[in-house]
Amino acid sequence: MTLDAELLEILVCPNDRGELDYQQDPEVLECKTCGYRYPVRDGIPVMLIDEAEKPASGSVARRSSAKKKR
Ligand SMILES: [Zn+2]
Repeated sequence: MTLDAELLEILVCPNDRGELDYQQDPEVLECKTCGYRYPVRDGIPVMLIDEAEKPASGSVARRSSAKKKR
């Protein structure tokens, strides 16, 4: 299943409105600017920042999660 080219043209990254790069294996839409990867489920792109796979640049998150926020 491939995404419609016209649909791809109107989609932008909800994080920074960057252009998206469609990849088929695995099927994701990757933002060309911030690198967030949005999953495509049943041919429908899930354009939610919460669902996006963030680039593992600043691996600070793992350590700081040891601190309990509550
Ligand atoms: Zn982006």
